[in-house]
Amino acid sequence: MRAADGGPRPYVLIVEDEPPLIELLKYNLEAEGFRTGIARDGDEALLMVDEETPDIVMLDWMLPEISGIEICRQLRAKDKTRELPIVMLTARGEEADRLRGFETGADDYIVKPFSPRELVARLWALMRRTNPASVAETLEYDDIVIDLAKHKAMRAGQPVHLSPTEYRLLRVLMERPLRVFSREWLIDLVWGRGVYVEERTVDVHIRRLRRALNAHGRKDLIRTVRGAGYALDAERH
Ligand code: CA
Repeated sequence: MRAADGGPRPYVLIVEDEPPLIELLKYNLEAEGFRTGIARDGDEALLMVDEETPDIVMLDWMLPEISGIEICRQLRAKDKTRELPIVMLTARGEEADRLRGFETGADDYIVKPFSPRELVARLWALMRRTNPASVAETLEYDDIVIDLAKHKAMRAGQPVHLSPTEYRLLRVLMERPLRVFSREWLIDLVWGRGVYVEERTVDVHIRRLRRALNAHGRKDLIRTVRGAGYALDAERH
């Protein structure tokens, strides 16, 4: 998913005190088209929300000083932020805590450790629920269209059958046509950062993606850039 055409990138305020987690969240959200702000404690979070209303607040439960739950309660108590989409992030997964999180008014609840991909999917789902007009439903390039809600790809009006990995690969390429993606970068974006995947695995999936897209003798839109990586490029010939 991504921002609707011409729309600004959605702004996510990350309220978290652990530097490695801040880094992970910031990296993944920005790679997926969000803009991020970082608050390391509750006071900073409330100040930053006052300065610029975020599209989503991602709130860690365990924070120094004011807890995430308390920040959530304070945001819900103010007119300006009553409807603000809030995602609680926590290491605690017990049912009682989960219920408390929802009672306090969080819209969604994510338990650590989480997969960045799942997190990003949940944020887009929340954006779609709370502000449907801001979220694009499709990505298009040349005669390829991806339906982001249904996870389906079409070429020239015909369905293209892709495995989940090839679908994600195509989606990443479609997010930024003409951009050359290194194999290493594709591994981060498609398989996840920190996941060990050999670079030639990327080549295997690109080959399968090409085969699926180019069925019926259609022209190849994926450009192999020697020594650099791959790009989606309709002008490659
Ligand atoms: Ca924490």
